[in-house]
Amino acid sequence: MAGALTYLSDSALPPGTLVRVPLGQRELLGVVWDQLLQSAEARTDLDPAKLRPIAAALTALPPLSPSWRALISFAAGYYQRSAGEVALAALPPQLRDLSTVQLARKLKKKAAAAAKAQAASASTPANTSSTALDAASALAAPQTTGKPALATLDSTPDTLYLIALTAEQTKAIDQFHAHPGPFLLFGATGSGKTEVFMRCTADLLSSSGSAQVLVMVPEINLTPQLEERFKTRFCARYGDDAVVSMHSGLTPAQRLASWLAAHSGVARIVLGTRMAVFASMPHLKLIVVDEEHDPSYKSGEGARYSARDLAVYRGKLDGAKVLLGSATPSLESWHHSRPAEEGGRYLRLEMPSRVGANAVLPLVRRVDMNHQPKGCVISPPLLDAIGQRIARGEQSMVFLNRRGYAPVLSCSDCDWKSTCPHCSAFRVFHKIDRSLRCHHCGFAERVPRACPDCGSLDIAPVGRGTERLEEQLALLLSGITRPDGSAVRIARIDADTTKLKGSLESQLAQVHSGEVDVLVGTQMIAKGHDFRRITLVAAINPDGALFSSDFRSPERLFGLLMQAAGRAGRDAGNSSRSEMWVQTFHPTHPLYDALKQHDYPAFAKSQLVEREQAGMPPFSFQALVRADARTQEAAQAFLNTASSTIGLSSELAPWLTHVTLYPAVPMSIQRVANVERAQMLVESPSRTALQRFLSAWQATLQATRAQPQCKGLLRWAVDVDPLLI
Ligand code: ADP
Ligand code: ZN
Ligand code: ZN
Repeated sequence: MAGALTYLSDSALPPGTLVRVPLGQRELLGVVWDQLLQSAEARTDLDPAKLRPIAAALTALPPLSPSWRALISFAAGYYQRSAGEVALAALPPQLRDLSTVQLARKLKKKAAAAAKAQAASASTPANTSSTALDAASALAAPQTTGKPALATLDSTPDTLYLIALTAEQTKAIDQFHAHPGPFLLFGATGSGKTEVFMRCTADLLSSSGSAQVLVMVPEINLTPQLEERFKTRFCARYGDDAVVSMHSGLTPAQRLASWLAAHSGVARIVLGTRMAVFASMPHLKLIVVDEEHDPSYKSGEGARYSARDLAVYRGKLDGAKVLLGSATPSLESWHHSRPAEEGGRYLRLEMPSRVGANAVLPLVRRVDMNHQPKGCVISPPLLDAIGQRIARGEQSMVFLNRRGYAPVLSCSDCDWKSTCPHCSAFRVFHKIDRSLRCHHCGFAERVPRACPDCGSLDIAPVGRGTERLEEQLALLLSGITRPDGSAVRIARIDADTTKLKGSLESQLAQVHSGEVDVLVGTQMIAKGHDFRRITLVAAINPDGALFSSDFRSPERLFGLLMQAAGRAGRDAGNSSRSEMWVQTFHPTHPLYDALKQHDYPAFAKSQLVEREQAGMPPFSFQALVRADARTQEAAQAFLNTASSTIGLSSELAPWLTHVTLYPAVPMSIQRVANVERAQMLVESPSRTALQRFLSAWQATLQATRAQPQCKGLLRWAVDVDPLLI
């Protein structure tokens, strides 16, 4: 393993043991790695007299398992980072900071809690063949056990236990049990995927006394409902410690506690964001990846791993089943789940129907903006439809993917624009605090009274963001009253309104309790939330993504619009059919046609045909090498030099028949915080070839740094399977 260090230890430590080691003046956390990974020469080179002893071995903790170490090694190799970096990022920061004494104290507390939980679970009724049945019988006859946990359950019955599964859910679960997977659960929004996840979880947990399940969600803060549902269902049976969460919103102490619970096996279910894919779970039997298409599963820094892809790999390592779920799968997963005869590797489980009385998907309406009054933001028919909703006491959701008041401020006399002095981007006008803020580097200033260049007072916002949309809607809807005669209530949810901890939750609660008639927001509100009383969803200006240079834009837009449509009309109590409105200048675009039909397969098919013709993923594999430098020239010189020397190397040159390297180009936002950014695309029809080439190329990239033309280079990094090109 590259970068492994060698230390002395009095006693033989099994691989996976956590240790503290001195490095220079500091003391660091380390993991004893497999001996075999160190090359023999490296070790004969070592002078035992110069080796330092480890400071301490955290022997109170069981060693990290071989499969965990294999996952780290794989992730490091695949994403071109060092195993040490990946391992340390995967461990809770407090493991690094706590003294061994402090750690021992924590472990003692945990052990006591575990013993208590063990006692509680031992007293629950014996397992029968199916957990769903167990749960139901436990609910039906709590008095026979008389245990406190069940008594609590009885006082707040989880009616979900008693749900009869739909035929589609039953079929999906049966297939899940009959096949090894991996699975792609392709289910419409509201088809009951979460219920399937919970049943599969329940079944696997009851299959053995120690089985563990990892459930991943893209953004745990946006899905408190899911956490709640898992806790309600499983804590009663397996104890309060049985469900833990793992995400960046936790305090270091909470993160350590969750990690220890998972590592020791006390936690039977870990719910987490992408970082949870590295949770140490010695008895892992199932990994669920909810909303598997979500770009949040891809890390944007350090090892730029895809937690979804690693989940599939981890399933193989741990012998755990893997269940991916989405209403709008990533085209990669969709392609993997084609019929096995055509080469598919995942089994597709389909649940096309929504559950219950509200089985109908919303009606999609396209507004042809070519035929609307010039410059109008909300077309008259949409405005009218929102007004009707308000008058009926129903809610509407309007989204626009741009926050702030206006994306740019401009002088009508001299054409001055509010560019950021540090970035190749405009500063956004935020009216609420009259600031101009750069969304890339954070640079903020008060809005000038007059044009900084010519002094004209005629400076005005151009375009619109959610803040301005909210203002305009308030104006346009001011004549409309609610059923009780009171005024319309408009609320906005975006990154600006939810900066404070807990503010998103409280704003969502307001929407849920019916205190809001029209909700304005960014894609934040289109994702995942269960808005039961909303009967109209509108996308104000989604066209941009149709013509983006990023080939994944249509996929993302389609997913977003389908998800947004899925927010509407989940409440069976709504009498009218809910609607999804799309304002577009391209109403006949095939993407909107497929949306109107709620036809993801048709959309996916047309996209995959295009991708195959163009040799794009999933029909090819990509990596980006990104370089940051003081000048654009240096950034590009670094990439182009590293690329042009490949042909000169007898070791690397043969790869050029398998791998294509494109010339370096500036990134779409070329300068951020005075740093120039460039990137180079590397492509191959073979994943393995790309992989091997990148590993072999590392040394060249390292060496290129020192070239004179690369002076000013700050850093470079490889992004394997990049999501944003
Ligand atoms: P998805 O995750 O596919 O969007 P959910 O699992 O959230 O869907 O289910 C949508 C709603 O339907 C939830 O309120 C859930 O409790 C309910 N539900 C799920 N399965 C059933 C069922 N078999 N019978 C009745 N209601 C169900
Ligand atoms: Zn001016
Ligand atoms: Zn900036």
